[in-house]
Amino acid sequence: MSKFLSEKFKDLEPYTPGEQPQDKKYVKLNTNESPFKPCPGVMKALSEEAVSQLYLYSDPTANKLVEAIAEYYTNYVKENGKNFVISKENVIVSNGSDEVLAFIFNAYTDKDKGMACPEIGYGFYPVFCSLYGVPFKSIKIRDDFSIDISAFKGISENITIANPNAQTGLYLSLNDIKTLLSENKDRIIVIDEAYCDFGGESASVLLDEYENLIVVGTLSKSRQLAGGRVGFAIASKEIIQDLNTIKYSFNPYNLNRLSILAGVEAMKDVDYFNKTRKVVMENREYLKEELKKLGFKVTDSKSNFILVSTPKMGGKELYLKLKERGVLVRFLSDELLKNWVRITIGSKEQLNVLLKEIKEILGA
Ligand SMILES: *Cc1c(COP(=O)(O)O)cnc(C)c1O
Repeated sequence: MSKFLSEKFKDLEPYTPGEQPQDKKYVKLNTNESPFKPCPGVMKALSEEAVSQLYLYSDPTANKLVEAIAEYYTNYVKENGKNFVISKENVIVSNGSDEVLAFIFNAYTDKDKGMACPEIGYGFYPVFCSLYGVPFKSIKIRDDFSIDISAFKGISENITIANPNAQTGLYLSLNDIKTLLSENKDRIIVIDEAYCDFGGESASVLLDEYENLIVVGTLSKSRQLAGGRVGFAIASKEIIQDLNTIKYSFNPYNLNRLSILAGVEAMKDVDYFNKTRKVVMENREYLKEELKKLGFKVTDSKSNFILVSTPKMGGKELYLKLKERGVLVRFLSDELLKNWVRITIGSKEQLNVLLKEIKEILGA
């Protein structure tokens, strides 16, 4: 730390991203990326012609991408029995969803109104609170890791929940989310749907009923663009205006030209999206069953990862032993998770390598 660092950041503990080894080749199951390449349209769109345009600034409104996201979700709500339009004014895009989450925390929290989140959640939420110097409230979850929405009763904070939840993969029903939305009408409720495409129902179907709802999404997990850094939020026009005020006070050209092009293709190729997420969900159920046969406890994840534990060793030991054997999974330093590791659902081939190594480690 230099002597120049502002007093307010002296105790800031930044987010620790999962390992991204750039040299050795691992079977990489640690940061919930897709095992698939981006859809074919992405490769075509990132042409020499597109690269040659990099000397010009990108569209600060990312109009084409905002349009593609609005169109996808308008169709989604229609397919789920609702008839309202999600228009361009309801959408903002960001450099990964981490960025729009940062905008949201910045816009709606202050020293009197912080953010409440379930314990064991996405590690970035408390970091944003310390970055902005606002209170973070951790809400107890049940012993089986499920979220108890009655624990949110009577609090004064805004609420952010990843659904399915980060780390556990457990899904909270839309009915529970409705209850939260109606019990907290004067607070913002953020539903972070990074993993929603792997078996959950999107809360976007509730946007016509609740003006306090913000749905956050990313193209990193279910649309093969983790390295492209594309995220978004959907909410009322007024909320999107707020978030644009923050964005234009920080980084107007937050998406680069190539990411905008890639994002449009990834949103439009619904067939590829459906095909790839179906494989991930099938592989997830396969891995759950195989690990249960080996005596593992496995969360009933609706995400592209599962949280698992074996009575034979702690989480850190299993993580290290797998790493030695070239398989990278995630050990999370939370005390509640000391017996668990988080495994990303990879390709069937990757999962079979993982299973073979686990069997050898356990002597099974
Ligand atoms: C991965 C993840 C994000 C961040 O995604 P990016 O779009 O890659 O920044 C946000 N929230 C949760 C819960 C995640 O797991």
